[in-house]
Amino acid sequence: MIECIGYGAKGEKQKLTSLSFPRRDLRDNDVLIDIKYCGVCHSDIHQVNNDWGGSLYPMVPGHEIVGIVKEVGSNVRTYKKGDVVGVGCLVDSCQECPSCKENLEQYCDKGAVGTYNSKEYESGAATQGGYSTSVVVREEFVVRVPENLDLAAAAPLLCAGITTYSPIKHWKMEAGHKLGVVGLGGLGHMAVKLARAMSINVTVFTTSPEKVDDAKKLGADHVVLSKNEDEMKAMAKQLDFVINTVAAVHNLDSYLQCLKRDGKMIMIGLPDKPYPNIEVSELIFHRKTLAGSLIGGIKETQEMLDFCGEHDIVCDIEKINIQDINEAYKRTIEGDVKYRFVIDIASLKEG
Ligand code: NAP
Ligand code: ZN
Repeated sequence: MIECIGYGAKGEKQKLTSLSFPRRDLRDNDVLIDIKYCGVCHSDIHQVNNDWGGSLYPMVPGHEIVGIVKEVGSNVRTYKKGDVVGVGCLVDSCQECPSCKENLEQYCDKGAVGTYNSKEYESGAATQGGYSTSVVVREEFVVRVPENLDLAAAAPLLCAGITTYSPIKHWKMEAGHKLGVVGLGGLGHMAVKLARAMSINVTVFTTSPEKVDDAKKLGADHVVLSKNEDEMKAMAKQLDFVINTVAAVHNLDSYLQCLKRDGKMIMIGLPDKPYPNIEVSELIFHRKTLAGSLIGGIKETQEMLDFCGEHDIVCDIEKINIQDINEAYKRTIEGDVKYRFVIDIASLKEG
């Protein structure tokens, strides 16, 4: 066993504290990664708080991991010691079902194994995430991080990046299309950057007046304050697509109304409660689609990282020490982060 130090929650809604735990010894197809940085996703907070049910404790969160390969198993061919790599939300899947065969491991019929708050297939041991010094992951779930990207700012690409890239690609959004992005947080700001790099016209919907200028600097063509009824009304039937990143239950009808005929709203924000009734007449009378999307497969994650490498795209981050993680959670819930906290794992090693 490999002894590992991390920060985690010992129970539901508990503050994160220092703890140590074992990682499995390297199997033939495993890669041992010395973690350098880990992003703080709103999903980490949902899972610590057991918002979605079924959380396993103690829980070391973190699925936006970047680091350096320290050691590889005897059958590993793709990576070697010293490589700059990343690990996102997944660490295993069955590799046999139709979704896995289509490189869509996130929709694996057996249930993909999450980087944390999940159980390894064979041992049943709880997986633990990237707020820690090292991680052991099978080769197929490791991706290569382009070396021209700032490593800390690249970390959130492993979840915020792929979760927004995947629906853009799946629904074939392209130059000339009009896309609305709801919520300017970690996911939302990446949706803006990625869509702009593909010449998609972007309108940001935000509840935060202080983010309007930022949204424009990030590349948004238009910004709407969603609490302003007149601004919302002016958007009626304007958009081809909406990507909705909001982490709390809110009024979806007002965004469905912003879609043109045949428009599609893709939900990626996953709140703690189900949505109440949705006005289906808006869907029926204008042939609109309400859809959802979960992260992205490993092949697509690599494609997204390569795209970001070519276009010099990284996240806007606030680097923190692990000791500040509980304050960072509080600020994320309040929408007070520009636009992703990233933990410098060196702070963990220093104690
Ligand atoms: P985040 O950084 O906290 O951003 C969420 C943004 O939503 C906030 O910055 C805020 O933007 C807006 N917002 C929050 N509460 C709101 C409310 N009550 N009403 C209206 N707007 C509100 O979170 P994130 O890390 O981007 O994650 C967003 C959601 O996506 C979370 O639920 C997370 O679990 C989920 N997620 C899903 C996937 C997936 O695969 N589908 C992957 C990762 C994360 P403004 O200030 O601009 O209004
Ligand atoms: Zn995430």
